[in-house]
Amino acid sequence: MVYDEDDLLPLSALQHLMFCRRRAALVHLEHVWDENVATVEGHHLHDSAHDAGTESRGDVRIARGLMLRSLRHGLSGKTDVVEFHLLAAGEPEASGVVLPGVSGRWRPYPVEYKRGRKRREHSYEVQLCAQALCLEEMLGVAVPEGALYYGKSGRRQVVNLDEQLRRTTEMAAVRLHELFRDRVTPRADHHRNKCRQCSLVGLCLPERTGKSLSVEAYLVRASRDSGPGHSGDRRVNGEDDR
Ligand code: SF4
Repeated sequence: MVYDEDDLLPLSALQHLMFCRRRAALVHLEHVWDENVATVEGHHLHDSAHDAGTESRGDVRIARGLMLRSLRHGLSGKTDVVEFHLLAAGEPEASGVVLPGVSGRWRPYPVEYKRGRKRREHSYEVQLCAQALCLEEMLGVAVPEGALYYGKSGRRQVVNLDEQLRRTTEMAAVRLHELFRDRVTPRADHHRNKCRQCSLVGLCLPERTGKSLSVEAYLVRASRDSGPGHSGDRRVNGEDDR
């Protein structure tokens, strides 16, 4: 399938979708957003990453704030950083691209900036992989690897963009388009560990109770209900935790 330009959806929405489908709907369909310390710091980190344009460090050229898109997957957005690594002698020319003003061929390598300490976050890996899919479609070269950079620890996590991650990312893009097409916000299915990380927890009303209830009280009850042997632990729509 090839999407029209007008139908492209934000790359960053994939991260929300993988974390919680309801969160993706609240942010992107209902435009609900609540700034907490984590999101403010996260925005600052992203703004810094987008600021500087291009620079060179040895055999690495760094481009910030590149616009990406994939008509095949219906996604678009701005990257934090795309590095271009000079191909080593003997590497096939077809695995790199030509850059203006410099010799040699260069392999694109997306780097996504995240707040906090280095850790494994599947939703972040999907967002990074989506950037790689866009780069591959736009530049016509393979992007086998990228990295997540964690601002608090100043460390990178290298991400191997393997077939499984690519299939997950492609399916996430399909699900995102379904969400935007249907425009139905999923019901809340609170999960204590996930929801307490979510900046929207104070705004995400527990619809399934059918009555007003403080979020804190709701989480206590959801936690109790999701104990061993209780069917309430099931996720809606097969959603993953982060
Ligand atoms: S509070 Fe929980 S259910 Fe609500 S949007 Fe956030 S993660 Fe999803």
